[in-house]
Amino acid sequence: MKPFSRILVANRGEIALRIIRACRELDIESVVVYSEADRGAAYLDLADEKICIGPAPSENSYLDISKIIAAAEISDVEAIHPGYGFLSENPQFAEICQSCRIQFIGPTVENIRQLGDKAAARELALKVGVPVVPGSEGVISDEELAKAVAREIGYPVLIKAVAGGGGRGMRVATDESTLSGAFQAARSEAEIAFKNSDVYMEKYIEKPRHVEIQVMADSYGSVIQLGERDCSLQRRHQKLMEESPSPAVDDDLRLRMGTSAKELTLAAGYRGAGTIEYLLDPDGNYYFIEMNTRIQVEHPVTEMVTGIDLLQEQIRIAAGSPLRYRQEDVRIQGHCIECRINAENPANGFSPSPGMITQMRVPGGMGVRFDSHVYAGYTVPSTYDSLLGKLIVHRETREEAIRTMLRALDEFVIEGIHTTIPFYREVLNHFHFVKGNLDTGFIEEYMIDA
Ligand code: ADP
Repeated sequence: MKPFSRILVANRGEIALRIIRACRELDIESVVVYSEADRGAAYLDLADEKICIGPAPSENSYLDISKIIAAAEISDVEAIHPGYGFLSENPQFAEICQSCRIQFIGPTVENIRQLGDKAAARELALKVGVPVVPGSEGVISDEELAKAVAREIGYPVLIKAVAGGGGRGMRVATDESTLSGAFQAARSEAEIAFKNSDVYMEKYIEKPRHVEIQVMADSYGSVIQLGERDCSLQRRHQKLMEESPSPAVDDDLRLRMGTSAKELTLAAGYRGAGTIEYLLDPDGNYYFIEMNTRIQVEHPVTEMVTGIDLLQEQIRIAAGSPLRYRQEDVRIQGHCIECRINAENPANGFSPSPGMITQMRVPGGMGVRFDSHVYAGYTVPSTYDSLLGKLIVHRETREEAIRTMLRALDEFVIEGIHTTIPFYREVLNHFHFVKGNLDTGFIEEYMIDA
C-alpha cells in the first residue's frame, strides 16, 4: 500500500527534486511550490503539479507558513515534506500542519522543540549518559556567569546560540580578555539570525573531526543507526564534503557512537530521520554537539553505503509504517564521498557566483551519482543558497573513491559561473587528505585564500 496519495514539496532546488523522485517511485503524486525566482526551473515539471507561492525573498515564499498551508489546502495533499532548511525545523510550522490535519514529514512537534534548543538537547544527552562537550548547564544569562563557567572548564571556550544553525551565532574566546566581546558578538548575531539571543558555552575542542550518526526511528519505539558520516571538511563551520566510513572510526568506535545515538533517539521519543552530531577529538573521544531533526544535505552518503533509500523510508514512517529494517540488516559497504558543488568562486574567498550556466557536462560512469536540479541554460538565482548539486561517488575503498571523484571532477564542465569544482580537485590531491588526516581546520590550515 502506498503511504500517501499526494504530498506537497515545500522546498526548492536539488532537495525538492530528490523528494519528487522519491514520491514518483512510491507512486505518490507530488505538488511542488515555487517562488517567482524559481519560475521556469525544469525540475518543477517533474512534479504532478506546481504552485507559485510568491516573490523571491524566502520570507515571502518558502518561509511564509500561511502561503505553504494555503498551497497544501488548495492542492488537497495529505502530507508536507519540508526538505532541509526553510521550515524543516520550525515547530510552529509542524504544529500548524498538525492542526490542519496535514501530516508533517518529519519528527513530532515536541521533538523539534526539545532538540532544536541546543542547550536542552545537551541536557538530555547528559541525562542519558551520552558524552557531551564540557560546558555550561543551560543558557548563560550574563557575562559574570560566562566568566565563571569559562574559568571552570578552561580556555579556549566557544559561545554558541541555543537556536544556532549554519555555523552562525558562534564565537571563540581564547582568554578572559576576549570573553566579553565573544559573548556580546554571539548574542547579537544570534538575535539577528534566529530572533533569539540565548547562548550557552562549550569547551572549544582543538582539531576535532565532525562525525555524525544517521538514525531512523518509527512511531513504535524501533530505532536503527546507519553508521557515520565524516563532515570534517568545513569552511567557517559549514560542511563542504562528506564521506563514509570515516577514516578515523573503527568498528568499536562506530558501535559506541552508534549506540549512544540510538539511546539519545530513544530517550527523546524521536520519530523519523535524524542526525546525531559529534565532535571527535584527536584522542578518539567523542562528544555530542547537537541533533538535527530533518533529512540532511549529505544523506546520500549514507544511502550509498547502506543501500537504504532514506527519503522513501522517511515518507513511509511519517505515514505510520514501521521501520522496514532491523539493526542487523544495516551493513556498511564500500566507501562514499560527496562534494557539494556550489556556485561560488573559491579563488575569491568563496564569493557567491549566481548567473546563467551557459555550458554543462555532467560526469557519469561506474559509481557516480549527481543529485542536482541545474542544467545548461539554467540561471542560478542570487536569492538562495549556492548549492548547485551534490556529486557523490561510491566505490569499494577510500582510495578508489578518491580516484573516481577526481576522474568525475575532471569530466565535469560548468561554464558561465564559478563553481567549487577546482577547489575539490586540490583537496582530493592534498597529501593530508589522501592520508585521511583532517580536522575541521583543514581548509584554514592548508588551503590558500580559503
Ligand atoms: P550549527 O548548528 O551552527 O551547524 P554545530 O553545533 O553543529 O553548529 O557546530 C558546527 C561546527 O562548529 C562543528 O562541525 C565544528 O566544526 C564547530 N564546533 C561546534 N562546537 C564546537 C566545539 N565545542 N569545539 C570546536 N568546534 C566546534
